[in-house]
Amino acid sequence: MGFWASMKDVERVVRSGAKLCIAALAVLMSCASPQPATKSLQSEPLRTENVIIVVIDGPRYSETWAATPGLIPNMSGKLKGKGGFLQNFYNDAYTYTNSGHAAITTGVNQPIDNYGEELPANPSIFQYFLKQSGKPATAAWIVSSKDKLHILTDTQRPDWQGTYQPSFNGGISGPGSGYRMDSLTLEAAISILATHKPNLMLINFMEPDGYAHAGNSENYLRGISRTDRYVKELWDFVSRNSFYRKKTTLIITNDHGRHLDGVDGGWMEHGDNCEGCQKISLLALGPDFKKGREVEARYTLVDIAPTVAHLLGFKMDPAVLVPKPDTTMVEFAVDSTLATPGMNAARITVKMEPAVLEGQVIKELFK
Ligand SMILES: [Zn+2]
Ligand SMILES: [Zn+2]
Repeated sequence: MGFWASMKDVERVVRSGAKLCIAALAVLMSCASPQPATKSLQSEPLRTENVIIVVIDGPRYSETWAATPGLIPNMSGKLKGKGGFLQNFYNDAYTYTNSGHAAITTGVNQPIDNYGEELPANPSIFQYFLKQSGKPATAAWIVSSKDKLHILTDTQRPDWQGTYQPSFNGGISGPGSGYRMDSLTLEAAISILATHKPNLMLINFMEPDGYAHAGNSENYLRGISRTDRYVKELWDFVSRNSFYRKKTTLIITNDHGRHLDGVDGGWMEHGDNCEGCQKISLLALGPDFKKGREVEARYTLVDIAPTVAHLLGFKMDPAVLVPKPDTTMVEFAVDSTLATPGMNAARITVKMEPAVLEGQVIKELFK
């Protein structure tokens, strides 16, 4: 078993026994009207046919965009001027890996088990895209250093579960096999792009987060500079490849940041609502974006999904279910056999509440 397989991820976890409330869903579906087509933002038709989302897991803004060129000379120097950059971009909800990624792929902030044992409550951009395009599973991929992100391939929602699932390449050899090095994830991503020519891909690079949890500051910083180089390699690949050239959008973001110095252990951990955990970045490159644009308006992770839907021309159901921790928390007695050592002693029950998609297309990016 490799280092990453044996490393215990100490991210904060919200244990939830979420079960879908079918009655709530039925009410929700009957009230919801389909989202109007969003292609009307531009007069010109969009040129994007492919979208690649790169998630650099858990670097802190103070080590990335607040200190440029620093560790990110490729993104801040060579790439930023080719696209748009969001100056005020946040994960303003649950600042841990699985929740941040689920917010990106479903457009909904939700508490979720962080060990890969709970599927997102709502269908993802991958499922909407595959259903509406009629394309095979190889047209949409999740390529991830963290094996637990296989959860992004499916949803708990009964009318979508097990359908239109994207392909998954993650961990050392799939779910449960442990984390893999980012260099291997980059290799896998480029090989899949070259072979299957997918239209939609999410890539997770985990080294900044993984090494920070391990308390290895040198490798945490090295992870940031490596992922900066990997992003440049991906951009060079799509710029040269005849299938992807001039019709591919690359969105580079994060699932969460890390604590500010002095907050709960500082850079090594994350998971609360301090500015360090919430402030993240988004750089967007592609044929439909203004070059050199700096966007001041505030956006958050849930705005990525509607922006991708707009770029690829599919619709998302505006009616969603949002798991909400119940107000009545059951505290286990200290000596209870149900309270596993090292786990939170409080078990939170979760209710599914109907809601509408909150995210918006990041319109300032577009030409
Ligand atoms: Zn983490
Ligand atoms: Zn924090």
